[in-house]
Amino acid sequence: MNAPMFAADRLHGDVGHQVRLPTTRMLIGGDWEEAADGRSIDVEDPATGQIFASVPAGTAEDVDRAVKRARAAFESATWSRMRPLDRGRIIETIARKIEENAQELALLESYDNGKAVHHALAVDVPAAVDIFRYMAGWTSKIHGQVNPISGDGRQYHSYSVREPIGVVGQIVPWNYPLAMAAWKIASALAAGCTIVLKPSEVTPLTALRLAELALEAGLPEGVLNIVTGYGHEAGQALVEHPGIDKIAFTGSTRVGKQIVQTAARDLKRVTLELGGKSPSLIFADADLEKASLGAALAIFFNSGQVCLAASRLYVERSVFDRVVDGVAQAAKQFKLGHGRDPDTMLGPLVSRTQQGRVLDYIEQGRASGAELVTGGKAGEGTGYFVEPTIFANPSADASIVREEIFGPVLVATPFDDVEEVIRTANDTRYGLAANIWTRDLSRAHLTARKLQAGTVWINTHGMNDPSAPFGGVKESGWGREVGEEGVLHYTETKTVTALLAD
Ligand code: NAD
Repeated sequence: MNAPMFAADRLHGDVGHQVRLPTTRMLIGGDWEEAADGRSIDVEDPATGQIFASVPAGTAEDVDRAVKRARAAFESATWSRMRPLDRGRIIETIARKIEENAQELALLESYDNGKAVHHALAVDVPAAVDIFRYMAGWTSKIHGQVNPISGDGRQYHSYSVREPIGVVGQIVPWNYPLAMAAWKIASALAAGCTIVLKPSEVTPLTALRLAELALEAGLPEGVLNIVTGYGHEAGQALVEHPGIDKIAFTGSTRVGKQIVQTAARDLKRVTLELGGKSPSLIFADADLEKASLGAALAIFFNSGQVCLAASRLYVERSVFDRVVDGVAQAAKQFKLGHGRDPDTMLGPLVSRTQQGRVLDYIEQGRASGAELVTGGKAGEGTGYFVEPTIFANPSADASIVREEIFGPVLVATPFDDVEEVIRTANDTRYGLAANIWTRDLSRAHLTARKLQAGTVWINTHGMNDPSAPFGGVKESGWGREVGEEGVLHYTETKTVTALLAD
């Protein structure tokens, strides 16, 4: 196994910061490897367009080797049968290692994804620490049950246990590369599974650094394998591989549907965390200042590249102009810039492709006749910036209202009564999240009941926690991540029934 290295020649200087690259090869078993055919993928800094690293473009052959190593590690049972408390200690040590390397990870995430270092330090890295710390405790709390069977009148002892599902393939996107990888890896490890994870080809670096830290923390070789590569190659090969027992996917609804079709061939277990078009509902009695800022952050944070971004804003008509103005004022104050600038609020979008996609939606919004309140164009500079953009009074069937844009674009519509806004908010194929702003407690909870969403926030948005199951209804996904449900999705139930006496 190659030791993690931080040789001077792997330092990359820019704007007064030096980013230390992790081992830019794939982790297969305990070995850091190039792709079988030697191809690689360039990694670009979205703030400058500069290429600063490259990683292997993993092939089906590489996936096969990784799955075999993960299978061998699973069958050797060194991980799945390790004393639960010892497994927990290693998972907790990973949390500590992430904490100790927080600055470095945040900077790496900023170069890889574009986001502000201080946001990565405040959100992404703590999310990764918290999930490992939380899941460390689950290793010793995955209980079974005794079944009170009636049977045929004879005496039986029947119990059910939760067993690790086996070898899991995990595929993650580029918007929260470290946190999404951490959510998946920590949950599967707690259940006793072994893993082949494929990070996004756009942002592979923090997953590789996380794998280095996991090995340093004492995770046995082969338990965690990282195959870098493209979705249609390495990702597809992982989903097709007969040695994978479950696929856990976070990404677009389009790819999620393809994965379901492929996984159906051998009925692999599948959980999916997919896209969203989440609504913000602001009632006239809300604290309008807080609600306006809250709605602005709910869409523009991470430059709108958030699955749970509240990209549709519904405001009670009597306060519509005031709230839209408040959201626009907040948006104008969010400073666009590269992620290493401490004043940056909104970094660039992750790639030129994503910038082009978002600008195209903005053009469609203009063409649809929606009223442009603010923004509407690319930001200045060489990076892939897009101004925070708000459209008011769009038609209900405009693409900017119906489709996930995954960028800093908000559509604002007035409403007259609560039943109407619930109907409109639910009129989408997605169902990931929603938020409600009101001082009326009953209305808040009654509205929460009626919204079709996996998570509803009241007078806040985006408060995720390892203890709170997260996922979507409708086309936003299958299953839940984190919390107890998140661990149990990595297990299968086995029932054992013994005849005790005739
Ligand atoms: P994407 O679907 O294009 O890619 C996600 C991952 O899937 C990447 O690693 C990619 O390489 C891989 N992939 C692509 N094609 C594949 C295939 N045919 N087989 C297997 N793997 C394949 O999504 P993205 O553009 O990286 O991320 C943005 C999307 O992710 C948005 O739709 C967003 O809403 C969603 N997302 C959802 C959540 C959630 O928790 N619900 C969280 C973050 C992002």
